[in-house]
Amino acid sequence: MAKAPEHEHPKKAFGWAARDSSGLLSPFSFSRRETGEKDVTFKVLYCGICHSDLSLVKNEWESNQWASAYPMVPGHEIVGEVTEVGSKVQKFNVGDRVGVGCMVGSCQSCDSCANALENYCSKWIPTYGAMYHDGTTTYGGYSDIMVVDEHFVVRIPDNLPMDGAAPLLCAGITTYSPLRYFGLDKPGMHVGVVGLGGLGHVAVKFAKAMGVKVTVISTSTNKKEEALEHLGADSFLVTRDQDQMQAAMGTMDGIIDTVSANHPLLPFIGLLKSQGKLIMVGAPDKPAELPVFPLLMGMQPYVKLVAGSCNGSMKETQQMIDFAAKHNITADIEVIPIDYLNTAMERLAKADVRYRFVIDIGNTLKSS
Ligand code: NAP
Ligand code: ZN
Ligand code: ZN
Repeated sequence: MAKAPEHEHPKKAFGWAARDSSGLLSPFSFSRRETGEKDVTFKVLYCGICHSDLSLVKNEWESNQWASAYPMVPGHEIVGEVTEVGSKVQKFNVGDRVGVGCMVGSCQSCDSCANALENYCSKWIPTYGAMYHDGTTTYGGYSDIMVVDEHFVVRIPDNLPMDGAAPLLCAGITTYSPLRYFGLDKPGMHVGVVGLGGLGHVAVKFAKAMGVKVTVISTSTNKKEEALEHLGADSFLVTRDQDQMQAAMGTMDGIIDTVSANHPLLPFIGLLKSQGKLIMVGAPDKPAELPVFPLLMGMQPYVKLVAGSCNGSMKETQQMIDFAAKHNITADIEVIPIDYLNTAMERLAKADVRYRFVIDIGNTLKSS
């Protein structure tokens, strides 16, 4: 018979877990493995709340071959301080500031892994809710300690605050990676960012730091002033405003679509120039309707690309964090105590956060 989570491993751990798809989380005792020879053990200080946490807590991705398993300790925007390293660890020492994002393992032998693209390994191991190499369940960062293979750990540069840096581990890399990979990082280009949430607002910051002209595309005018005056966007479009959308047709080199809910893609395809690229990073649970003719032709010969992108590799995650440090990029956050978690989840479902909740694990998560 499988051991209870508390007795699976020797190290005691404590966090908050979802027990079912109700959306509610509660205190949970479990365990972590001993620090292996290539492992880094760290005390978690902060963990961001990604919309994917909410979708997985509620089992919203079941129809996409991603059924949630409970109890689930979410959290994949994790930062902390190293307390122990294994005998073969090369990159980290006790006391180092570190972070862990969306994955804690991969096969390390397929083409993707060999080409430093572990995020596209078919055997990648998500940070929580998955089976680790040893057959036990992975638990995420809404918890007091992490034990992770050093390959999946990044260094947080000294000039970045730990709380504002935490969301970079998912929101940051998920938007930085497609800007680079799809060549939307050239100064003077024009990129649209759809959805100004956790991912969207850091997409704006990264694109601006790359020298790109940025238009935020949002569902309402609520975030307009902040987007233009505080986040540095160059212009702001409201999707429902037909005149604004019409005037912006054919003006963008690329669009990063971060929307979490189902929505029509056609208006965004129209905003692209010829050979423009619509990159989906948001993960709505239902299939999107994708009309083909607008990809092929229109008022002028249009050839457009629609693609998806998932997180980023470990190498690129370190590059992203170093780029963020160089340009003083952090997430705009609302720091919360752990006992506010369920309220935060409800607010996140309503897009009522500017722009990322980050749990103060170090000061507020106590096991008794
Ligand atoms: P978030 O903070 O909730 O932001 C999503 C934004 O989408 C909202 O702020 C809102 O922006 C817009 N939006 C929400 N509902 C909408 C609707 N019904 N119609 C149109 N727009 C709507 O979420 P997040 O943490 O940034 O995550 C965004 C999505 O990316 C989620 O689906 C998440 O699971 C996914 N994700 C994917 C990856 C990946 O590797 N591809 C990684 C992380 C997250 P406005 O208020 O501006 O309209
Ligand atoms: Zn995420
Ligand atoms: Zn692999």
